[in-house]
Amino acid sequence: MESIFEYMQTYDFENLFFCQDKALDFKAIIAIHDTTLGPATGGCRMWQDYTSEMDAVEDALRLARGMTYKYAAAGVNLGGGKAVIIGDPKRTDREPVFRALGKFINRLGGKYITGEDVGTTLQDMEYIRMETEHVVTLPTYLGGAGDIAPMTAYGTIRAMQACCKKVYGSDSLEGKQVAVQGLGAVGHNMVEQLHELGANLIVTDIDPAKVDAMTARFGADAVESEAIYDVDCDIFCPCALGKVINDDTLSRLKCKIICGSANNQLAEERHGDRLEEAGFVYAPDYITNAGGTIYDTDRLGVGGVSHERGKAKVARIYDNMQQVFEIADRDRLPTYQAADRMAEERISQIAEVKKYAD
Ligand code: NAD
Repeated sequence: MESIFEYMQTYDFENLFFCQDKALDFKAIIAIHDTTLGPATGGCRMWQDYTSEMDAVEDALRLARGMTYKYAAAGVNLGGGKAVIIGDPKRTDREPVFRALGKFINRLGGKYITGEDVGTTLQDMEYIRMETEHVVTLPTYLGGAGDIAPMTAYGTIRAMQACCKKVYGSDSLEGKQVAVQGLGAVGHNMVEQLHELGANLIVTDIDPAKVDAMTARFGADAVESEAIYDVDCDIFCPCALGKVINDDTLSRLKCKIICGSANNQLAEERHGDRLEEAGFVYAPDYITNAGGTIYDTDRLGVGGVSHERGKAKVARIYDNMQQVFEIADRDRLPTYQAADRMAEERISQIAEVKKYAD
């Protein structure tokens, strides 16, 4: 990115805020992409490995835009925003840092709502909550939804069922071979829920203890982490890293469906085109992994968490995935582009609705 304003104009960003306090060694960026559907919402990332300040600004802007698409495609009435704190995610003096961020967020009067992201924790969100109410990811004892990973897994499985319907004519996962990469917060919930649905599981993780737990509890087969790309299966379910669909893995995968929770699965957009050409059914990551954030934000404006209502909304990821397939067929697009189109169409339709005065 050479010019901030040029970048913001290209992708139609609304605002960019810089916050700092020298005594606290606090530097943060808040990016607001689009508030057509509702307040800009998206987690707070704490990260220090930026090559320059411009690199951090671009990260905040890119992530904020990603949230606009994620909420729009999920049918949630929120816009896209993101905060980035430039700093060591392991720094121990967290209270003043996150309370300072809370103060700045509060000044925005609800135009931006923050949450947990890479490098931040629920405890950090508690510090932010001391200064502002505009924070979603909170423990249950503070009125939040608590651990959202089970709902991220559930939403991904709903997308997987829609993929099965398309490929096999039935959404049943009974007897399907599913290769799960990564057995962390989402992955282990995925294995548990897939097991309940009768899937046969092949799992991997770089942490052998996590693998042992899944093989012992659910009778899953295990492979070395690199071997997961080569296993014969119906569904490859990436729940660990980004960029797992790349030049190397594309020629190795033997599945029919790729559907997992990991963010940024395509190394480059062209890999989404290649998946399409090679006949894979690819469930775009921001469609599949929206469950946690749908569940987490469901309480906003409706007076608190309801597990039943939240879960019912997450279940609609099945319909969202089907709509992606419809747009892909209608406009002859690979699914990753069809998802973007679905989000853009919803934003422009709701903008049209909103032009009428109340
Ligand atoms: P996590 O850190 O809890 O788990 C990741 C797991 O992947 C760990 O067990 C780690 O050991 C394993 N791993 C790392 N490198 C690996 C490799 N090369 N091969 C196999 N396993 C490897 O993270 P998480 O919260 O479970 O998230 C998983 C993915 O889903 C991430 O991409 C995350 O961005 C995305 N996601 C998570 C949520 C959520 O609710 N937690 C929501 C949306 C998206």
